[in-house]
Amino acid sequence: MDVKIKNKSLKIIEITEGKICNHCLGRKFSQDIEGPGNELRGQKIRNLMDLTDKHLPVEDNCSICGCIFQTLNLLADTIESKIESLDLEFFSFLVGSILTPELIQKDDELSEKLDIEVESIKKELNRELGKILESRWKKEVDFDSPNLVIMVDLKQKAPKVRIQINPLFLEGRYRKLVRGIPQTKWPCRKCRGKGCEYCNFTGKMYSESVEELISAPVLEMSHSRDSKFHGAGREDIDVKMLGTGRPFVLEIKEPRRRNLDLDTLQKDINKSAEGKVEVLDLKYSFRSRKAEIKTSSPDTYKIYQAFVELEDEISTEQLNDLQNLQIIQQRTPIRVSHRRADKIRTREVMNIKGKIISPKCLELIIKGQGGLYIKELISGDEERTQPNVSQIFGVAARCLTLNVLEVGS
Ligand SMILES: [Zn+2]
Ligand SMILES: [Zn+2]
Repeated sequence: MDVKIKNKSLKIIEITEGKICNHCLGRKFSQDIEGPGNELRGQKIRNLMDLTDKHLPVEDNCSICGCIFQTLNLLADTIESKIESLDLEFFSFLVGSILTPELIQKDDELSEKLDIEVESIKKELNRELGKILESRWKKEVDFDSPNLVIMVDLKQKAPKVRIQINPLFLEGRYRKLVRGIPQTKWPCRKCRGKGCEYCNFTGKMYSESVEELISAPVLEMSHSRDSKFHGAGREDIDVKMLGTGRPFVLEIKEPRRRNLDLDTLQKDINKSAEGKVEVLDLKYSFRSRKAEIKTSSPDTYKIYQAFVELEDEISTEQLNDLQNLQIIQQRTPIRVSHRRADKIRTREVMNIKGKIISPKCLELIIKGQGGLYIKELISGDEERTQPNVSQIFGVAARCLTLNVLEVGS
């Protein structure tokens, strides 16, 4: 037996008065002896010492961990029954644990006395428990984005298990076929959602929203109670979202089902929201997409169809003047100034085409950079938007209806 290893072993026996389990013993030799696993390392040390030393350490009375590793199978039983009682479907998980400070200290002290840096007892415990559950469930530990995080509190005699159910993400595009529906739930401005006479005790300003129309069937299929809607920007209540639709991510909170039939789900949504909202290309997504679709970078664009009312008639030739609308200086519109910072932004009109529908009515197709306010581009918003449609025609213009035809990136 290697002298260095032998001396280290003897020192451990001296410090622990010979009371140490294979896990705690093996953990201190992770850089000296091959595994796999600390338990096997500990066993190897013990076997070697059998031949050379009379003072064999006692295995079943560990002064470091109190033989916590022998309780892992029981702990796995507790976790299993907890998950069964919650009726959870999942494909990956991660184990975490809370140990008493005394236990962690004892283990650290032993390493300090030996002047070594090895894995912590907590890390080994999480891994060993994870391995047991992996083989029972045929499911994998996932460090990056587990479906479940299983927290085991071992501070008390009776261990406590807490399950964190991580959200499930779906994404797709939606078309809003009618006006008058907000994108997200809009709490009543009087009672802030509690329910009052003003909101007819619904707690909401509008009875329906794109969010609710899409999420209701999803919540039902995923056995979830709550979700959060993330849109790639939003259209005003009185604006339709047509064409190829607007990208969105739906974050489903604490789902108890994850294996969803997305074709059926999309059909369910489109049936129950028929004539109001339509979902396209519904698919599985992930957390980072939530921020990605929300950042409307200067590279994004939108195509709008606007019907414009004119105070006076204009000539067909005057339509050519629309080409003067290119770089737009836009001060925060009056209608949103109560909730948005007052500043002047520069936005580009990438393309604009006009068609006279009737003497005082115009159809405009506008391709604009993300963040361009269209209603204000038309009216001028008391000269806060420069240049604008009213200005170049010399005739007051007002947006009657607005549809979004495409949200592009
Ligand atoms: Zn131990
Ligand atoms: Zn109310």
